[in-house]
Amino acid sequence: MTEPTNRLPLRILLVSTPVGPLGSGIGGGVELTLHSLVYGLGALGHHVEVMAPAGSLHVGAKVHQIEGTLQVSSQIGARDEPAQLPAGSVLAAMWNRVADIQDDFDVVINLAYDWLPLFLTRFMRVPVVHFISMGSLNDAMDSAIREVADRYPDRLGAHSRAQAASFCGDVPVPFRILANGIVTDRYDVHLSADDPPYLGSVGRISPEKGLEDVAELSSRTGMTVKVWGMMQDPVYWQQILDDHPDAHLEYCGFLPTDELQAAIGGCSALIMAHKWVEAFGNVAIEAMATGVPVITYDRGGPTEIVVDGETGYIVAADDVDALVGAVQRIEGIERIRCRQRVEEEYSTAALAGRVEQWLHEVVVAVRSSQA
Ligand code: UDP
Repeated sequence: MTEPTNRLPLRILLVSTPVGPLGSGIGGGVELTLHSLVYGLGALGHHVEVMAPAGSLHVGAKVHQIEGTLQVSSQIGARDEPAQLPAGSVLAAMWNRVADIQDDFDVVINLAYDWLPLFLTRFMRVPVVHFISMGSLNDAMDSAIREVADRYPDRLGAHSRAQAASFCGDVPVPFRILANGIVTDRYDVHLSADDPPYLGSVGRISPEKGLEDVAELSSRTGMTVKVWGMMQDPVYWQQILDDHPDAHLEYCGFLPTDELQAAIGGCSALIMAHKWVEAFGNVAIEAMATGVPVITYDRGGPTEIVVDGETGYIVAADDVDALVGAVQRIEGIERIRCRQRVEEEYSTAALAGRVEQWLHEVVVAVRSSQA
């Protein structure tokens, strides 16, 4: 492994997702990752600028706001769908701008789950690293990731081992496992749950989040489940309400982080009944930061966050009976332990430390190959 440099401050350009402006919620967990990177890397003394679609909230030293047609979210398409760009693509416009200003930076971090930035890696003068935000969903993306890995084995980052493994056929794809981080100071701990008790579900209202199982859990336990998240698929949501007339689901809308953390802190547990390989599960660390234990299906990133029996429970995937059993045992979890685990592993400082090490290794390797 390459030795890190003496930690000179880096000039870092963070390129956001082209699916929506920062603050819109359309980018899901990518928005949280970007904020945490800006905050954490900035606190380590690095100069961080952001490039994002026009209309984005201000964050970091500067946000380059780029006009253009938004990209459609990748989780919607089929596996064999080709890579697509709409006319007037904001993704293309963002990468044109990255190419123009690249010499002002030591390294570019791409947060978009898109074919184009992966393909462009070898054509850029400045090293581009890719922090991949979702598991394997699409063949064109898989092959673009594989090509980057073959040429630059140190340029790919992932949130969890489960996410990284989803890209591997016979030959593993080398990923740096970076987890994620949050600004823990923004989350107040609730040492006890509200009475009467209720459960929580946080995430985009979309089929991969498995809300039908959450509804079933509510029907079987009689407990209310409060649901926060962007209404991405209203037809899916209505279907769940129609199919589960005796479930007590309370849709509470999409809240900004400060309001969300205050609202979820009263839950007895956060339920994660996802149907896809959740790359990480930011909502798990956000809930735990407020003292809320997490009950998750044994699938994807959340299983690497939750310590079974200590900060929540990991139950067999797609098993609603197992969810019911875990809810009944929730008193066995010490809420303060949930918070401690976030402070130890998932603070912005912890995330930035992991990412800084990665960036330094990449920058040193590039500079020594040019020397
Ligand atoms: N979120 C939010 N307000 C809400 C519900 C969700 O800001 O009312 C954010 C949440 O904080 C998290 C993100 O949406 O950062 C969801 O990320 P996650 O990794 O859980 O799922 P993704 O949407 O990326 O699949």
